[in-house]
Amino acid sequence: MSRFWSHLVSTLDPYVPGEQPRIQNLIKLNTNEHPYGPSPKVIAAIAQASDASLRLYPDPTSLALRQAIAQRESLDAEQVFVGNGSDEVLAHAFQALLKQERPLLFPDITYSFYPVYCGLYQIAHRTIALDAALAIRPEDYLHGDAGGIIFPNPNAPTGRGLALDAVERVVAGNPDVVVVIDEAYVDFGGQSATLLIDRYPNLLVVQTMSKSRSLAGLRVGFAMGHPDLIQGLDRVKNSFNSYPLDRLAQAGGVAAIEDEAYFQQTRHAVMQTRDGLVEGLGALGFDVLPSLANFVFASHPRRPAEGIAAALRERGVIVRHFRHPRISNYLRITVGTDQQCGQLVAACAEILA
Ligand SMILES: *Cc1c(COP(=O)(O)O)cnc(C)c1O
Repeated sequence: MSRFWSHLVSTLDPYVPGEQPRIQNLIKLNTNEHPYGPSPKVIAAIAQASDASLRLYPDPTSLALRQAIAQRESLDAEQVFVGNGSDEVLAHAFQALLKQERPLLFPDITYSFYPVYCGLYQIAHRTIALDAALAIRPEDYLHGDAGGIIFPNPNAPTGRGLALDAVERVVAGNPDVVVVIDEAYVDFGGQSATLLIDRYPNLLVVQTMSKSRSLAGLRVGFAMGHPDLIQGLDRVKNSFNSYPLDRLAQAGGVAAIEDEAYFQQTRHAVMQTRDGLVEGLGALGFDVLPSLANFVFASHPRRPAEGIAAALRERGVIVRHFRHPRISNYLRITVGTDQQCGQLVAACAEILA
């Protein structure tokens, strides 16, 4: 607290990112980073862009990157917005599209940044409880009383996904408000709503290069939707920071989109490791929610999650635990390499013995 803070700042309850430990050799399964590095073509493109041209401002419209994304998704560049990580893209969407008279709806268990943006931008909101199996029920979003809707698909931190027809029911059932689908994890087995964009002008799909393209450190996120929605995001962006993506991020981002083969190979490797992790945890008695993400959400009937997390940490493995009452007995475990997941399962076996 300081007397120099604005009233708004003193009321904020900021997001707390997962720990980025300074200790070496920890098995870091707490922030859903990809276990394999980015495509070598991304590194080469960034190296090539690292020259005297850095004295110049980057393209404020990130046109080459938007074109690369548009081409891959069979869209026009006018249907694509890019930002400094999808967190920034989401923040602009909250301010430009989701701040309305009626409340914004999102699940009670979801990405914990959503209520933080509501605090920052003073957005009225209401949470909708997940069902007993921690799944989103599309019908709960069809009462016609929303000012806007946002949820991740697959949801975080549960990893549960909704089929495309269920997402479409929510989008079609709310034609007068914007529905944002946060697809941070969609490339690990989910169904993307990008296929619906040409039919629904109220749909905004947000994705990131942080997870499935192994570029959390580069900060590239994007949104796809009707040009009117994109223009709204642009107005906020150009009232905030003309150059959210630097030259290196734009060059690396294009290379990441273009290396489709590497993307396919590494995302499938993660999904395969996930199957083994689910099996290993299941054999130890964990209840593991069905995951379409690069993490699993697991609880153990006999041992409180918080204690397991602490014991794992003593053994050099870090996972994420959330204090929210409905999920306080769950651990969110990022899918690492086969070896890392094997070490995690072995450490759990020791702890539970
Ligand atoms: C990781 C994540 C993001 C943000 O990713 P960026 O690194 O900011 O692109 C957004 N939404 C969800 C649900 C996430 O898990």
